[in-house]
This record gives sequence, structure tokens and C-alpha cells, in this order.
Amino acid sequence: MKRLLFALLLITSSGALGTSFARADALSEIAALPAVSVETIGRSVEGRPLHLLVVAEPEAIERGAPSVLIICGQHGNEPIASQAALRVVRNLCSESKAAIRRRIVTLIVPIANPDGMAVRRRTNAAGVDLNRDWQERTQPETRAIFDVFLQWRPTLIIDAHEWTADDLYTCHTIETPLLRQERAVPTWSVPLDQWISTTLRACADQGTYVQRTYWGAANDPRLAHRFFTTAWNTPAILYETMPAGTASNATRITAATTFLSQMLAAVAASAPAPSPVPPQSPVPAPDSSMWPIHFALASGLLFLLLFTHGQGGRGMMERTTTRPLSVPRRSTGPIIPRCRRERPLASARTRHFPRRAHAPQDPRFSSLSAN
Ligand SMILES: [Zn+2]
Repeated sequence: MKRLLFALLLITSSGALGTSFARADALSEIAALPAVSVETIGRSVEGRPLHLLVVAEPEAIERGAPSVLIICGQHGNEPIASQAALRVVRNLCSESKAAIRRRIVTLIVPIANPDGMAVRRRTNAAGVDLNRDWQERTQPETRAIFDVFLQWRPTLIIDAHEWTADDLYTCHTIETPLLRQERAVPTWSVPLDQWISTTLRACADQGTYVQRTYWGAANDPRLAHRFFTTAWNTPAILYETMPAGTASNATRITAATTFLSQMLAAVAASAPAPSPVPPQSPVPAPDSSMWPIHFALASGLLFLLLFTHGQGGRGMMERTTTRPLSVPRRSTGPIIPRCRRERPLASARTRHFPRRAHAPQDPRFSSLSAN
């Protein structure tokens, strides 16, 4: 039944997607998927909840594994990425993806602009293009997602969109910073180019060609992926599916699902391997055939105690009770430190990580945002 309801979510029309997420029963079904928690991170201008899906094994969250933040639906007239994100979540919950769930934490904002998505409008209810609001963050939607960024400090951000009919390109596209030409070598140590090349090759193998474009100092720095790259030195990618009319919705959803899934796999492949779980030794079950022997031993011990108590045991008891038992004997040996107690695992829903210090901005990046 759970899978059926989730499948119904996936086949909802693009216009109904925004409202379906607002339904409590749909949310509860998503939250019930293995290794998924749904958090409400804020509310839109019109009061719709903004959700964050956290997909990971608890131990990955507990040890602070690298995280990838995927932002979908900043533009309310672009529902493809939101629907693809749901497929990504479903795929991640399969048994074959357990290694990814143990290595990285996947954070997905399925609909960043629920007010716009409800009426298929690019802007939010205040008429603001959210993907031009990241520097100022004047809107509750961008502020809520920025708080998610501060809390998790993701290793990679993917901002997922779709080209529309009036856009320049007609094929699946990613945009990354024009680093080499701008002499702005990133200070991050993650192999972004390796992740991208691995992903694009995997997409091509599955019949989906994704072109790579670049941005530089002449481009608008207010977009999410450019803002996080320049102001926060965090690798961020813009992803766009080909526009409607060029391919069917099903084809575009599949392409976006493939790209996002392959990027997660690439990041996970280079993430630190989780420490192996020690095999648990089974607790031996009590052997019922030994019960008569145990009973005989216990009976003999009881008899011995009663006998000694009656034959001079009073003196024994007096001698043994001359020293108060409640006072512990002071050890004269070396002090052995006690093992640090294991902290209990926190659930993904309630886990809050301390905010990390703002990484000093690389002056080489300031040239990119100077515009
Ligand atoms: Zn867009």
C-alpha cells in the first residue's frame, strides 16, 4: 500500500504536484519510506510549508557524512525536477543503494516555490524570482533554504530547473563556474570535475546527452549556484532539462532522475567509507537440559548458607559486617580511565548540527562576483 501511494505521487500531474506535497497523508507516506525523514523548514509567502527530505542511514548523519543539497522548483512553472526528485528518493531507498545512504546524506528541497508551483508561475507569491534573490534573501523561501545550507554545509549543491520555450538551449544542460579562464582556482578539495565527467559519461551510456556550459564574471551572480560558489566557496551546479515540446515529460523526468542519481553515486563513490559494523555475537539461549544441574547447585548452596548460619554463622556475619559495605574500598592501583560512553543515535528528524565557521572567502573568487 505504501508503494502504491508513493507511485500515485509520482504520476500526479505537474500542476497537482505542489498541492499533493501539502497533503499530510502524502507527506506521511514519504516519511515512512526507509531512511527518509521529512522536515518542515519554513513557510512560503502564502503560508505553504517548505519541506526538506533527508535520505541517509542514521549512522551517516551521526558521523557527519558529506551531504548533497538538491534544490528543485525555484520556478513554479518548472515541475520536472520536482517529480524527478521523488524518483531519486524512491531509488535511494532501494536495497541496492544502501551503500550510498551510508556514505552521504542526500538533502532534497522538492519544491522551493510552492506558491508558484500551485499556479504554474515562475515567481513566488510576492512576484520575486527566487533564483535572483540569493544575495539579498528577501523572501521566506530563500531564507529557509539558506538556513538548511548553514545547518548542513553541504559538499555539493545542485539547483535543478528545466529550460522553457523562450530559453536559448534545447538540450539537457549543466552550468559550472568558468574557473580556469577566470584564474579563480577553487579552494575546495572535492573532485568536482571528476564527479561531473563520471556523471555525464553515465548519462550518455543511458542515452541522455548532457552538455556542459560555464559562467564567469560577466554573468548574473545572484543565481543560487553562482552565489554559493562565489560567496561560500561551495561547489554548486545548475541543471536544466530540455524544454517541453522538445521531449515528452516522461523523457525529461527520466533524464533529470538519471543525472541526479548519477551525481549522487559519483559523490558517494569518493566519500569516506563508513567504518565496518562489527558482527554481533549471538546471545546463547539457555540450555534447558542443564536446568536440573543448576537447580541442584543452587539448592546445595542454599543449604550450605543455612548450615553455616546455624553453626556459628552468627560470628561470621558479625565479622563481615564490621566494615560498612556502602563505603567503597579505595583502589591503590593505577587509575584506569573509563571508556567514553557511546552517544545514542539521533534521528534524522531531530538531528541538528552545530553551524560551522564561515570559511574565509578566497580573494580569487571575489573577482567572479564583481559585476
Ligand atoms: Zn528555472
